Amino acid sequence: MQTQIVHESIEEYKLYNKVLEGNKSYVKKKLAQDEDYFRKLAKGQNPKYLLIGCSDSRAPPNEITETDPGEIFIHRNIANIVIPTDLNINCVIQYAIEHLKVHNIIVMGHTCCGGIKAAMKQDSVGGLLDLWLNQIKLVYEKHQELINSFAEEDDQINCLCCMNVREQVLNIWRNPIVQKSWQEGHPVMVHGWLFRVETGFIEELSLEDSIPEEMSKIFKIKFKPPKVQSPSQHEDEEGNAISPMRARRRFQRMQSRIETGIRHFTIHMQNVDEEEIEHKLVENIEQDLSV
Ligand SMILES: [Zn+2]
Repeated sequence: MQTQIVHESIEEYKLYNKVLEGNKSYVKKKLAQDEDYFRKLAKGQNPKYLLIGCSDSRAPPNEITETDPGEIFIHRNIANIVIPTDLNINCVIQYAIEHLKVHNIIVMGHTCCGGIKAAMKQDSVGGLLDLWLNQIKLVYEKHQELINSFAEEDDQINCLCCMNVREQVLNIWRNPIVQKSWQEGHPVMVHGWLFRVETGFIEELSLEDSIPEEMSKIFKIKFKPPKVQSPSQHEDEEGNAISPMRARRRFQRMQSRIETGIRHFTIHMQNVDEEEIEHKLVENIEQDLSV
């Protein structure tokens, strides 16, 4: 028995060492491409996105989006959950918005998620884990009719993966830090993704329809205006004060218009230069938001 443990530990240590060897090879490759690569990286980060993903080893955000270190600010946990009282994730959200000035928050779930699968079963996976999975069970309970309408277990799991992303996007919309940023005129857009492990593709989930209007009334928070307020904050173009609820809707509408607009123009205006597309987009969106 003792010998077996020693043998197993040697094998495990070799595997561990392989990871460190991989790091040496990574540094070598990067320096071959650019000898200042790490010196530049050390100067600071300027990520444009906050991604909240699953800890699953098959869903590495940088690799599947071909982005480099420094481009995405990342938080990962089991089944990409945004728990309103989680100190960890709230610090990440606050830092991303208030200090890194990130404008895009992405919740990325993935197919074949072990956390989602475990939440659909009644077997215990351990005290703390059972507690964590409760959050997903709540989503399952809420959408069980739709989820159970699928005959295959894999389809049921993937459906809950999507529903879980939607619910976590809602949790971000309800988040006071995010709401405060909207009221202060910092446009944070929230996106929901499903990464398909079996194909490698990311699917953007359409989320606007899933936001119940009454949610905003219950969760809206009124912040006291800052003592020194710039004219653009809390006011529309005519200088009228914008309610927190209206601010959120305006940004949601803006995000939705940008998304559909970009899709429309890239499909129908392939020979038009980017500047013109942007000009048309701004024109359309401004017109739409002023209604
Ligand atoms: Zn997962």
